Amino acid sequence: MINIQGITKSFGNLQVLKGIDLHIGKGEIVSIVGPSGAGKTTLLQIIGTLDRPDSGSVTVDGINVSGLSTNKLSDFRNRHIGFVFQFHQLLPEFTALENIMIPAFIAGKGRSEAKARAEELLQFLGLADRANHKPNELSGGEKQRVAVARALVNEPAVILADEPSGSLDTKNKAELHQLFFDLRDKFGQTFVIVTHDEQLAAITDRTIHMKDGLLMPESTITSPNDPTTTTV
Ligand code: ADP
Repeated sequence: MINIQGITKSFGNLQVLKGIDLHIGKGEIVSIVGPSGAGKTTLLQIIGTLDRPDSGSVTVDGINVSGLSTNKLSDFRNRHIGFVFQFHQLLPEFTALENIMIPAFIAGKGRSEAKARAEELLQFLGLADRANHKPNELSGGEKQRVAVARALVNEPAVILADEPSGSLDTKNKAELHQLFFDLRDKFGQTFVIVTHDEQLAAITDRTIHMKDGLLMPESTITSPNDPTTTTV
């Protein structure tokens, strides 16, 4: 589903990605962990076509995005990728239902199709009775679940999440993490999640460790709780 070969990226003199190769299969839930400044968000943004690498190639959902012109990128992004950020970034003047429908409109769906899909997602997320609430009338966990529904409305093959549970309390965190697995099982999405949350990383299918712009070879990773070398 995601195939990355030899990508590098610098900001000025700072080389943030130093040659990344990564393959993520359809339906995998993968976490990316590592110290601040390791390049995790930059990698996620490049997978999500919010940024371009200086060199190397990125294929997502069978499309070589490195080859897409700038004006085709936003259409690609809207159809193939859903984003979930640490802070929900819902539009305050719109209801939960409307917030979820907006990306569907942008993708060219009609009102009734967008509404039906948004209602289906709200139902699946246990938020049907919150459809007409505005973000400031929702709890933190509810807002983040609406943000997940918004990411899913165009049925993207890939969901990219950057610290998705970073602003949630323990109970809401656990519910959000479970939701990723429920969504994968129901809709078959592939998830790439940048996180500092060890509990989340521990339950994902695979954890990728990044340091100083490189992926750590799996055989050299040592868990802090286990002095023996572990395979991830
Ligand atoms: P992480 O997500 O692992 O904390 P980031 O990918 O956010 O790391 O950042 C890696 C490095 O790149 C950091 O030193 C950060 O300051 C720098 N960086 C990220 N984005 C930009 C940018 N747009 N311009 C300049 N420097 C950036």
